[in-house]
Amino acid sequence: MPSKIEESAAVAVEKPNVPLKAKIEVGILGATGTVGQQFIALLDGHPWFRTTWLAASERSAGKRYGDLAWRLPSVTPAEAAGLSVDELRPGIGPKLVFSALDSSIAGQAEADFAAAGHIVLSNSRNHRMDPLVPLLIPEINPDHLGLLPAQRQKENRKGAIVTNPNCSTMFLSIALAALRKFQPKRVLVTTLQALSGAGYPGVASLDATANVIPFIDGEEEKIESETRKILGQLHGNGVAPHPMTLSATTTRVPVVNGHTEAISVEFEKPVTRDEVLAAFKNFSGEPQELKLPSAPPQPIIYLEGVNRPQPRLDVERDGGMVVHVGRLRVCPVLGYKFVILGHNTIRGAAGAAILNAELMAAKNLLA
Ligand code: NAP
Repeated sequence: MPSKIEESAAVAVEKPNVPLKAKIEVGILGATGTVGQQFIALLDGHPWFRTTWLAASERSAGKRYGDLAWRLPSVTPAEAAGLSVDELRPGIGPKLVFSALDSSIAGQAEADFAAAGHIVLSNSRNHRMDPLVPLLIPEINPDHLGLLPAQRQKENRKGAIVTNPNCSTMFLSIALAALRKFQPKRVLVTTLQALSGAGYPGVASLDATANVIPFIDGEEEKIESETRKILGQLHGNGVAPHPMTLSATTTRVPVVNGHTEAISVEFEKPVTRDEVLAAFKNFSGEPQELKLPSAPPQPIIYLEGVNRPQPRLDVERDGGMVVHVGRLRVCPVLGYKFVILGHNTIRGAAGAAILNAELMAAKNLLA
């Protein structure tokens, strides 16, 4: 007899977007935070997954989820509202858990859940650069899931950890993946990151209002290292990082949702502006081939207007799952420059982990 998940995976590949007989149960670690609430919202009515277990800190444990403060524009989804918040207790919830835990706790907690047999799809930074943990973007490196057997063996864990990148890294990596065939050699990126990227309550209002803060602790290092791993080559039991050099400057700006990035790229290969533009417009990957439920039809949308992309006007397009690119022009220093925008808590966090889970379901890797 195939397991429930095996049946789900078969349906996922052969008849995408068809409701399953039985949805796969999922839990959420850190369900009360900025990303946790986005998980709850995105999973409400999901065709393959059903949220049945929530966990957070002892501050929230024992409370009814619907009685806690909800900070998204919608109302708290009814099914989640009726659940009671648990403590972080490995082995209690469903096999598949999404993690939106604060990084101060995520490292050990996620390892404990994986050891207890859970498949942990994490948003936190702690395990991203572990050589045997996939840092997954399904459009770019689905083959990096090939690290899982070696991870299980080395860590002696029945479950597994799969991560998605830092939010700014996500959008930069998708843009660079589209241009990978021109061999990016040197990349300069300056980010303008939304306040929701700092979690809740985040940056103090007196610091954030009508201001730009030119430092986000640890963010530049994450962009510079994670991007190279994501675009790197899987070999044996590891990933050889992409050889490009990156230099990042990160800033926090008074925007609610949506990270903007100004990027300049130098390529090894000579390339015309039309070729760069076509590469953005034609970029696609396995999520689009498989028609995964959260996959946007096109991962990159190029906006022609000289004043786009803008967070307030563009960030919600296609459910917040696309990377917007605009203002492609010659860079007199490096080659080409452009501006990108992505939704930090959706494509940059909860939506990314859900897309990872959908890919794993389609590949029968959740069993
Ligand atoms: P957040 O709003 O501060 O939420 C943190 C969550 O962790 C809350 O549910 C909190 O529960 C829980 N938590 C904190 N300490 C805990 C403990 N000792 N034991 C158990 N649970 C604990 O943060 P966030 O913005 O959602 O970010 C969550 C993770 O995603 C972070 O690792 C962050 O770096 C990453 N991330 C965030 C974004 C973004 O745009 N915000 C994007 C990409 C990645 P209580 O409510 O009970 O305290």
